[in-house]
Amino acid sequence: MSTKDYDLFVIGAGSGGVRAARMAAGLGARVAIAEDRYMGGTCVNVGCVPKKLYVYASEFGKAFEDARGFGWDSAKPAFDWATLRDNKKAEIARLNGIYRRLLDGAEADIIDGRARLVDAHTVAVGKQQYSAGKILIATGGWPHIPEFPGSDLATSSNEVFDLKQFPQRLVIVGGGYIAVEFAGIFNGLGAQVTQLYRGPLFLRGFDADIRAHAAREIAKTGVDLRFEVNVESISRGADGLELQLTDGSTLTADTVLYATGRNPHLEGLGLDNVNVELTESGTIAVDEHYCSSEPSIFALGDVTGGMELTPVALAEGMAFAHRQFGDQSRQVDYDFIPTAVFCQPNIGTVGFTEEAARARFGDIRLFKSSFRPMKHTLSGRDEQSFMKLIVDKASDRVVGVHMVGPDAGEIMQGIAIALRAGATKAMFDSTIGIHPTAAEELVTMR
Ligand code: FAD
Ligand code: NDP
Repeated sequence: MSTKDYDLFVIGAGSGGVRAARMAAGLGARVAIAEDRYMGGTCVNVGCVPKKLYVYASEFGKAFEDARGFGWDSAKPAFDWATLRDNKKAEIARLNGIYRRLLDGAEADIIDGRARLVDAHTVAVGKQQYSAGKILIATGGWPHIPEFPGSDLATSSNEVFDLKQFPQRLVIVGGGYIAVEFAGIFNGLGAQVTQLYRGPLFLRGFDADIRAHAAREIAKTGVDLRFEVNVESISRGADGLELQLTDGSTLTADTVLYATGRNPHLEGLGLDNVNVELTESGTIAVDEHYCSSEPSIFALGDVTGGMELTPVALAEGMAFAHRQFGDQSRQVDYDFIPTAVFCQPNIGTVGFTEEAARARFGDIRLFKSSFRPMKHTLSGRDEQSFMKLIVDKASDRVVGVHMVGPDAGEIMQGIAIALRAGATKAMFDSTIGIHPTAAEELVTMR
């Protein structure tokens, strides 16, 4: 029996930390988990969950309009921000309670407060110190806002969910997941949204056709999308926040949302007291078993960089716990991780982009389809869906599937299983479609 207080001390009760703590405790380890802000971490409190609730909220306006072509008529609906915000708050409080009970049920000790490393086997929370055989850093990320004149007037995704007043005029800076998702949310809720991106086309890293199609469709929904432009300064004016842009133009806004990436959350963690090395980008460097350069200290999830997605942090938490306290062979397979961007319409994607597939496989075959969703034949809405299959010519294996359209995230989960199983284009072709759906297009493209 170890003389340490715990076998495992987890810092951060987010997606990765909670999963690792619960699994390790279930495998018989004596576990403590420290959290200083909110149970469930980013995803539950200021990420995936409230974001998806707000996406649902924002889709109603469009649905009311579309319903007219199907014979429904009603007075102009009104939206109340305070109702959405406060109902969201209540739901998150319920989830916080569930997370706490899950950890209690697993018999992991919850320590409320900010944790600081004292040495390779000791963590302090407030005045109390705890010793542990192993320490897991799962402290996630924190929004990054670049410094420029007036940058203190910018809002991050952490605060945007709980704004006191609904921003009638919203400027969003950035061209990644968060920027496009919030552009869709606030545009759908009725705000006048301007999205600024510094490069020629947003969503860098996604397939080029998907980026171009998404830009066209998002612009059609009424978001004022501007590329090759950035903010020089923000100041308070008589009528709101005044933005000076790099192209010489100006904008006035109620809120300026900066969605310019996230940094690893390492502040006050006491890394100086241990021998934990960082990568060039400032994330914690770990090996394939999440071990840092300090043999008793491990790290996983957003704090290590990589794909900053909840299911990835969960899988890493699970693999870590099994590796350290149970089945040694558990490892995360990072191939063909599907992902969705909940912009409007949604993006769903798994596997190689066209560019990456050409580099990796050389000869590839492409199948593309663009069509009007059946619903909009009667709604009259001008919206096009887009699908793309990328096939390695030599093996006939489908190595990339990309989509812009309603429910793209839902559709892509099943496709990811097929790709991981090594499905060929011939298998896609011999699969009978489900009619009438948009997804059947994926098995009928020739
Ligand atoms: P986190 O969930 O960030 O948890 C870290 C925890 O550690 C936090 O609770 C923090 O308070 C705590 N902590 C930090 N330092 C200390 C300390 N010193 N002591 C004690 N506690 C500490 N992913 C998806 O898969 N799908 C989505 O739709 C999605 N939407 C998102 C939307 C937004 C707006 C954002 C910001 C993120 C979204 N993500 C989404 C990403 C997802 O939330 C993260 O990848 C995931 O939460 C990472 O989990 P983690 O365990 O690494 O860290
Ligand atoms: P991203 O890294 O996805 O995007 C950051 C954006 O900000 C990029 O367009 C980047 O431009 C731009 N940018 C960076 N620095 C500056 C600057 N100084 N001035 C102007 N623009 C700048 O980060 P997000 O904040 O959108 O999201 C963080 C992560 O959270 C995502 O990468 C994702 O992993 C996760 N997430 C997942 C979601 C999901 O699964 N649906 C939803 C939301 C978040 P450039 O491309 O030129 O570098």
